[in-house]
Amino acid sequence: MSDLQERVKQIAEEAAARIDGADSLPSLNDLRVAVLGKKGTLTQILKGMKDVPPEERPRVGQWVNDARFAIEERMELAKKRLEAAALSAQLASEHIDVTLPSVRQEIGHRHPNTIALKEVERIFVGMGYEVLEGPEIEYDDYNFTKLNIPDGHPARDEQDTFYITKEILLRTQTSPVQARVMETGKLPIRMIAPGRVFRSDEVDATHSPSFHQIEGLVVDKGITFADLKGTLAVFARELFGEETKTRFRPHHFPFTEPSAEMDVSCFKCGGKGCRFCKGEGWIEILGCGMVHPHVLEMCGIDKDVYTGFAFGVGLERIALLKYEIDDMRLLYENDVRFLKQF
Ligand SMILES: [Zn+2]
Repeated sequence: MSDLQERVKQIAEEAAARIDGADSLPSLNDLRVAVLGKKGTLTQILKGMKDVPPEERPRVGQWVNDARFAIEERMELAKKRLEAAALSAQLASEHIDVTLPSVRQEIGHRHPNTIALKEVERIFVGMGYEVLEGPEIEYDDYNFTKLNIPDGHPARDEQDTFYITKEILLRTQTSPVQARVMETGKLPIRMIAPGRVFRSDEVDATHSPSFHQIEGLVVDKGITFADLKGTLAVFARELFGEETKTRFRPHHFPFTEPSAEMDVSCFKCGGKGCRFCKGEGWIEILGCGMVHPHVLEMCGIDKDVYTGFAFGVGLERIALLKYEIDDMRLLYENDVRFLKQF
């Protein structure tokens, strides 16, 4: 009988010593399982109760309960001590040194393409134009047919289009936006349509399969080629400087007639000829023309009452010229060392 009492006392003392020596919450928990758990040393005493004479059992139960209570109480205190220690250790390890220099905040800025676009938009909005956008994935009907480029027209091959299906493609120009606006029937029209266009070109210094265009369209009563020349001359002077001269060379585009290409006098040499303009004194800048009457008709506009002009300019071309960048790929590589210069 006293053997059993001695055994309980021994378990309680051992447990107390190990609790006081526990150095972490996990080791304290292991100890709880080893003593008080289902197979724990103290629990085993209760399981051996069947060998104890019935009249002694209440006393044995009392010893075990007293021991369990004392162990649990001691464990609770140890747990509080260890938790406090863990918190202090964490606070010490996460200490913030307020005297360290802070991480430098890099403030981003606009891409040269965006700077050029905002400049072009500013000029045309100043002349009363709206800035409109359209879908990059387009019906071939809008991209070609309504722009006077019927099935089998060489331009459909020339442009090396990314077709998605027979009728749907990645737009090769922003002109489809013009067709969409004309179709709404709201006149007069004075708009520019900037946006991304796609052609299956190999990447080199002057080509990319994805680039940006800005197309302009004016449709009203009595619009003539003089309006086109005057408008684009103002645009060129605003963009490249007051001294800039313009010249128009005959050209062919399916959706305009007559059509022209516009050159600006070299803003580096003023037209004398230099390395920048390859000795020409002139730099080709955009394509333009009077909207073809057939295009007006296809978009539901009375060609006998209304006339208009249209133009298209490559955004990258403007950015390359204006910032004297000699390789278009630089605009897409997103090298921060390059972009930071603008
Ligand atoms: Zn020049």
